[in-house]
Amino acid sequence: MEPYVYILIALGALVAAFLAVVLIRTLRFTPRPPYKAEEDSPEFDRDGAIEALRELVKCRTVSYYNREQEDDGEFEKLALLFPRLYPAFSRTCTLTRFPGRALLFKWEGESHASPAVMMSHYDVVPVSESDWTHPPFDAEIEGDVIYGRGTLDTKVTLNAAVYAANTLIERGFVPKNDIYFAFSGSEEINGEGAPSIVKYFEENNINPSIVLDEGGAVTSRVFPGVKDDCAFIGIAEKGHIDLEYKVKSAGGHASAPIPNSPIALLSEACCRIEKRPFPIHKTKPALEMFDTLGRHSSFLYRMIFSNLWCFGWVIRLICDKRGGDLNAMLRTTVAFTQASGSSTSNVIPPEATMVTNIRLNPADTVEGAMEYIRGIIDNDRVELTALRGTNPSRISVSKCEAFDNVATAVVSTWRGVIVSPYLMMQCSDSRHWGKISDRVYRFSAMDLTSEERKTIHGNDEHIRIDCALRAVEFYIRLLRMY
Ligand SMILES: [Zn+2]
Repeated sequence: MEPYVYILIALGALVAAFLAVVLIRTLRFTPRPPYKAEEDSPEFDRDGAIEALRELVKCRTVSYYNREQEDDGEFEKLALLFPRLYPAFSRTCTLTRFPGRALLFKWEGESHASPAVMMSHYDVVPVSESDWTHPPFDAEIEGDVIYGRGTLDTKVTLNAAVYAANTLIERGFVPKNDIYFAFSGSEEINGEGAPSIVKYFEENNINPSIVLDEGGAVTSRVFPGVKDDCAFIGIAEKGHIDLEYKVKSAGGHASAPIPNSPIALLSEACCRIEKRPFPIHKTKPALEMFDTLGRHSSFLYRMIFSNLWCFGWVIRLICDKRGGDLNAMLRTTVAFTQASGSSTSNVIPPEATMVTNIRLNPADTVEGAMEYIRGIIDNDRVELTALRGTNPSRISVSKCEAFDNVATAVVSTWRGVIVSPYLMMQCSDSRHWGKISDRVYRFSAMDLTSEERKTIHGNDEHIRIDCALRAVEFYIRLLRMY
């Protein structure tokens, strides 16, 4: 035989081996056994739970960066509602107050060794009242829906955790471990509530075995190729920077411009940044999500997610072309949000600025990301200032009893959902707990449509009554494991 025939045979064998490896890995990439659901359905006073939530919503606990706009009386009003709305809870738990209007309740268990912490916050973001079809603080019910600021974010989880505890206490339940309820009244303005409580835990050597805060939810059709409902439990959250870019000039009249004016330099910086996105990092939360949900996906995606060793470029291509959720899961993203120049049309601005909102992947830091951007712009005339910034959170473990407990409460409450770890894009108070725990989870006990999710921090925020009740059920299941 001619030598080229041997080469062809060798090449053919290589291709066949490659295809065989890809195919075998795909076929073996099948769903893991689901978490085992509990069979009972916890009883509780459903009307009472909904009435309690409505009472909380009626308190105008709006946080403002300008303290003078805040109404402290409304925050106090909410705190004083506890004995009436949750009498058994209030009799049993001790309350300690912290700066940032934070409330820490302690429900004493048989042991103090490995306490659980249920977090929430009771402040809300401001409303533009005229854009609402229902008054934002009347908790009106229309059909099977309650309207009001804070119904979703996140008086629902506060009410659910406390109402669940109240129900269990009424029935004589005593937890094996101490359970803390940590509620900040300044989360929306990044206040000192959560950090003060974490400091108290640190100083008193209290080591939680689990911390649960708001975060992911039960949703559908967000992961490529997966049709079933999924529950997303955040095991980490991205950091962020509001980065300002400034270019100064001598200004002057617009009739005789000289090159490299401030706006031109900012535009060039903008294009460079957009063309050179941050590198992709397959961090633990993303890989665990691919490894969980990829197994439930369509054949094509199963092939890709089970063979990232050779199809990583496909993921990169999708991220580069489409952006969106998958891209945000894998890299630091940069969104251009603000720009300003001259105050009139015929004057060169003496100073032009632009701001980007950057969301940091767990592999990046505030410092490192600014260095990267500086390198891309490569122009000393563009001054960079971080207006505010937070590093990404610590990454929690997901192969442990604490995660399993949350997952079990989830599948028992929402039958048939797939539970997956994920990386949360937003910031929450829970990041402060990374200092003392690697068992911090972010899950808002709700099933939400994409429409409902859009009303968080928006107009006409509302929750289905059924959804608010399920949150109570979830917490009854979870709390009785501790
Ligand atoms: Zn919130």
